[in-house]
Amino acid sequence: MARIRHQDTEKPARGKPTARASEEASQVRDPDASEEEARLEERPGLRPMRMADYIGQEPLKRKLSVFVQAARERGEPLDHTLLHGPPGLGKTTMAQILAREMGVEIHLTSGPAVEHKGILAGHLTALGAGDLLFIDEIHRLTPAVEESLYSAMEDGRIDLPVGEGSRARTMPFSLAPFTLVGATTRTALLSAPLRERFQIVEGIEFYRDEELAQIVSRTAGLLGFPISAKGALEIGRRSRGTPRIANRLTRRVRDFAQVRGRVRIEETDAAFALDELGIDGEGLDATDRRILVTILDMFDGGPVGVEALAATLSEPRDTLEDVYEPFLLQRGFLIRTPRGRQVTRKGARHVAGDDGGQTPPPTPQSGDPGDEGEQGELDL
Ligand code: ADP
Repeated sequence: MARIRHQDTEKPARGKPTARASEEASQVRDPDASEEEARLEERPGLRPMRMADYIGQEPLKRKLSVFVQAARERGEPLDHTLLHGPPGLGKTTMAQILAREMGVEIHLTSGPAVEHKGILAGHLTALGAGDLLFIDEIHRLTPAVEESLYSAMEDGRIDLPVGEGSRARTMPFSLAPFTLVGATTRTALLSAPLRERFQIVEGIEFYRDEELAQIVSRTAGLLGFPISAKGALEIGRRSRGTPRIANRLTRRVRDFAQVRGRVRIEETDAAFALDELGIDGEGLDATDRRILVTILDMFDGGPVGVEALAATLSEPRDTLEDVYEPFLLQRGFLIRTPRGRQVTRKGARHVAGDDGGQTPPPTPQSGDPGDEGEQGELDL
């Protein structure tokens, strides 16, 4: 079984190993993910530890299981693996499962925590043969650190500084064979040389409602609060395709059910609590709706550049792009054009609360003013 070593980090999946790193990392953190939640996520049993317990993502699990088996049969470490997808979809969880299935130890850290080459060298030299180093938010490594990672990934070597002052030089140090698992919210954030050094690159997709319902039932069971199948589906449906959110909502719905004296969460209990929490029937929360309404009201439905939108909403650009947008795009409430974000008819109808209350946004005209910097943006 894999042993887990959290190197210099309390909850590396959130990237907050030091106060400074925490500040940086907060830019891409799910803003609703609380400290309490981070602790609860580490609660024994909540995070699935085996491939078989990891709900959904069937194609991904099939592929990774083959790569794990093949590497084990060859007696080699798993190839370097990059996992990408929005926050809370299970990248850290999958890294831990990979270590366990490989029968190796996992060392966890995050891009903002690896502030300089010395810290990276510390992590790499601490790895035992075959161990797995997980770097969350790997796109946040500095260019200098990233560069030292190249030789570690490719040649199993790192240059260590020796001596001081005028006699300072570097000495190559051979590392034990290891696997790097990097996680990022978007591969486009990664530099091409780093991306190319991963032999396995896999995305984690938003989950289907039924899969989230399974996660909800499992979590409710772990919390010791029974839930009906319909109750679980109601929470799953409103969880933005994201297990972390499903787990969070399950706890909050449980609170409402408990205080209302229920012994089991029924569909009506779930719906009542979620309405109270401001989560609408499509799973959108107040910020999602504010994004759509702001684009409609302030920018005529769009297109609007992400910088202008972030400034108007007073939300960090990274949070908008990593936490909110992916789901709004996936559900067809928003589209990204080369000139910026645009609310769809579906999005307009949704915030209007009916099918006809809001004039649909105009289609983009060539020559519409967009943000500088949005021009030619290809990461759509
Ligand atoms: P990420 O690293 O992508 O931000 P995590 O791996 O930290 O996401 O997952 C967030 C939470 O969601 C974890 O606590 C875990 O319990 C739960 N979770 C994620 N993926 C799954 C899954 N496939 N099945 C069950 N629970 C999951």
